[in-house]
This record gives sequence, structure tokens and C-alpha cells, in this order.
Amino acid sequence: MPQTVNAVRIHEHGGPEVLRWEQVEVGDPGPGEVLLRHTAIGLNFIEIYQRSGLYKVQLPIVLGQEGAGVIEAIGAGVTGYKVGERVGYAGYSAGAYSEKRLFPAERLVKIPDAISDEVAAAVLLGGMTTRYLLRETYVVKPGDTVLFHAAVGGVGLIATQWLKALGAIVIGTVSTKEKAELAKQNGCDHVLLYSDGDIAAKVREITGGKGVPVVYDSVGKDTWEASINSVAQRGMMVSFGNASGAVPAIEPLLLSQKGSLFLTRPTLGHYVSTPEALQANAAELFSVIASGKVKPHIGQRYALKDVAQAQIDLASRKTVGSTVLIP
Ligand code: NDP
Repeated sequence: MPQTVNAVRIHEHGGPEVLRWEQVEVGDPGPGEVLLRHTAIGLNFIEIYQRSGLYKVQLPIVLGQEGAGVIEAIGAGVTGYKVGERVGYAGYSAGAYSEKRLFPAERLVKIPDAISDEVAAAVLLGGMTTRYLLRETYVVKPGDTVLFHAAVGGVGLIATQWLKALGAIVIGTVSTKEKAELAKQNGCDHVLLYSDGDIAAKVREITGGKGVPVVYDSVGKDTWEASINSVAQRGMMVSFGNASGAVPAIEPLLLSQKGSLFLTRPTLGHYVSTPEALQANAAELFSVIASGKVKPHIGQRYALKDVAQAQIDLASRKTVGSTVLIP
């Protein structure tokens, strides 16, 4: 039977005020789907891009890319899952800002016993992103010196710890002294404050003039210049986000002038496009957490209905680590 649940929906692009706490109808699961009751929802920067219109989405829409919860009903043809089971998902489709939702079973992952629903909702998106960035986009090797921006954000705190576990030397950037302290505690060997000035010059200093074989940049517009000037010859520039705004267009010739660089603009969906890739990616994330090498850090919790405030805090750089919304 269709049921009515609380959700946060937008009907137009705009500021946090367009996030509306509304009642939406959730039907019975169709073939291949489950009905999921969320127990925890992850907050991610992508929802700010989708709300503002930087990323176009079809309206109206219930935002939210990441959640964890319990299966309440199962549609025809679903195998391998049962009612009452704890599952999570990330990065497949919007709709997580809701008490309940329908979701394709083949895009779910089972949450191991040792991992709470909150932790799953906090790390699945950022953690699977970290995994593909460090293990596939550029394969980080022991001894590599790596520049990672926004080092104590949701993705950042997972990435700095994971980089250390891989034997890398981590240069992290942050905006405040407090964040710098947290970055150090989580494995950053060198922490640079943007306010300290020329990031690329400092990276060159640390690397004996060579630059780094890879830069991971999710800040975008504001750090592009420093990033591209920090990459070593034939190194890789990984631009994976736009927290400060989108990077303007560039000429391919620039990559030659800066040292025959590789430039990629990856997104999680393309690294977990098959169910097999999704399961392998999540399994590696859960295993690195189980090993204790990456310790999830939930910096903030908000009630789902207060997601506007949560987004304001994320966009104004007040948060650290992962943020969880409680339905
Ligand atoms: P974060 O928790 O990392 O928050 C963003 C951080 O970016 C801030 O805390 C801030 O850290 C830094 N920042 C620098 N400049 C600005 C600015 N002008 N406005 C706001 N923040 C700024 O967010 P998430 O962990 O959710 O995401 C991190 C990034 O990774 C985002 O850009 C996101 O889009 C991207 N991403 C990309 C994916 C992909 O597959 N391509 C998947 C997942 C995330 P500080 O104050 O220290 O500078």
C-alpha cells in the first residue's frame, strides 16, 4: 500500500530556503526494488550543487545521495536480500532526504555487523570516492607525496588516513589552525593554510622542486592555479569537485606547458557502474575501516528536517569530517 512519509524536496533551484519539509508518497516496491526505511542519511556537497543549480536536476526532487537503513518490503525478482536486513547505498540517485524510499536492490550494499548505520551513512559516498581516487584514478604508491585539498572535510578525513595507510606522504590544505591540528592528528605530514600564501611554492619546497605526482582537488575554482602548479612533470591533476565554484575552461596546451600533465575530472558513478564494481568498492572500504587504518569521523549530526542548516554549515566551511542527518 502506498504510504505518506516526511521528506525534504526542492521545487526550484536556489539558496537553502528552497529546501522544503514536505509529505511525499512512497509506493510499494516494483520489480527489482526494495522499500527502505532510513535510519541515517549522509550529507554531501553534491546536494548543494544540485540545490543551487550548478548541477542541473529534474524538478521537483527529493535530494540526498547516501543513506542507510532497514529493508521493509521487497519487490518481485529481488534475491539476496530479506526484510529486516541493514543496507546502505551511495551516489546512485537522489532521494535520500526522506524517511523512506524505494531503491533498486542491485545498487544496495549490506552493512557489516561491526559497522553502525550512522557510520555507513557517513562514509559510503566519501569512502567509495576515496577508494577509486587513490586506488584507480591514480594508483598511490608507498613513498608518493600527494597534495590533497580540504583535508579535514568528509572525503578529506577518510582520504588522509587512507593515504597514510598506503604509505604516502600527505600534504593537506585547510582553512583554519583548528582544522590544521585535526589534519595532523589524522595523518597529514604537512598542513598548508590557504592564508599562508603560495601553496605551489610550498609544495615545490617540500618536494625538492619536483612537485607531486598527483593532486586531488575538490575545491575547484580557488585552488586550480595552485594545484596545476604543484603537479610534477607527467603527473596527474585530479579535479573532482567545485566547493569554491567550477573551474573555468582551460586550453589543452596548458597541460603541455605545465609538464605534459594528465588531467581528469572523475565522478563516483563511473567507477561503480556495475553491481560487481559497486560491491568490490564497498567491500574494500569496509575492510579498511575494519582494519582500523581508516577511522570514520562523524563531526556533526542534524535532524533531517534541519538539513537547510546542515547545508549552510557545510557550504560555509563550519563542518569537519562527515555529517549525518537523522530522519
Ligand atoms: P567537505 O566536507 O569536504 O566540505 C567542503 C570543504 O571544502 C570545506 O569544508 C572547506 O574546507 C573546503 N572549501 C574550500 N573552499 C571552499 C569554499 N569556497 N566553500 C566551501 N568549502 C570550501 O565536503 P564533502 O566531503 O561532501 O565533499 C568534498 C568534495 O568532494 C566536494 O567538492 C564534493 O563535490 C567532492 N566529491 C566529488 C565526488 C566525485 O566522485 N567527483 C564524490 C564525492 C565528493 P576548508 O575550510 O578546510 O578549506
